[in-house]
Amino acid sequence: MKDLLKRALPQADERALDRFEIYHRLLSEWNERMNLTAITDPVAVAEKHFADSLAALPYLKPGMKVVDVGTGAGFPGVPLLIMEPGLELTLADSLQKRLTFLDALLKELGLKAALVHGRAEDLGQNKLYREQFDAALSRAVANLPVLLELTTPFVRVGGTAIAYKGDADQELESAKTAAFLLHVKLRSVDLDSNLGKRCLIFADKNAPTPRSYPRKAGTPSKKPL
Ligand code: SAM
Repeated sequence: MKDLLKRALPQADERALDRFEIYHRLLSEWNERMNLTAITDPVAVAEKHFADSLAALPYLKPGMKVVDVGTGAGFPGVPLLIMEPGLELTLADSLQKRLTFLDALLKELGLKAALVHGRAEDLGQNKLYREQFDAALSRAVANLPVLLELTTPFVRVGGTAIAYKGDADQELESAKTAAFLLHVKLRSVDLDSNLGKRCLIFADKNAPTPRSYPRKAGTPSKKPL
């Protein structure tokens, strides 16, 4: 496993590789008891979960306050924390059982992150989380117009929501209205990936999110902006 991880994650040092090995082991063990991921093959986990999650690493610095919205089994937040343990990371998900896994995982890895259970629509209206973060990350959670409503309320003015996506042009076109209403400016960076078309979409926040967003739980996906 270690050699395979070394090839997929050339930027990881020995300590990080040990942690990725533990992550893979726990993911496989817990996945037998609960549905954490459909991807279990070691090469696919290394490439599609670990390496893909690291795409945002160049944009994060130690001490940054970062939230991963809809983190599931910890992607992209935990691989980023393994590579940059100085992040002030919060992992948020609406499913408690995923957070139970993440709690056990973080203990085994010897890493610290805050775990928050709730819908992004509710957390984004809670003053403990609203406009408290430098960056809000999300991967495989929703279409961009929905995602912007779920993630940008967490970000302070001057901060950025970063979405892991496939085809940039299609996504950017679909989210013009949402970006206007939520006071963010969109830009994208194509990724050099062997997983097909991958990009990061940055939503740079230039003014506070209007109070009416996010709307109540379920509305963003039923009636996307
Ligand atoms: N980000 C992970 C990844 O890339 O593997 C998980 C992706 S999984 C397809 C989507 C996750 O988002 C699930 O864990 C789900 O519980 C969570 N989720 C979906 N809608 C949410 C919402 N409105 N608020 C919080 N979490 C949400």
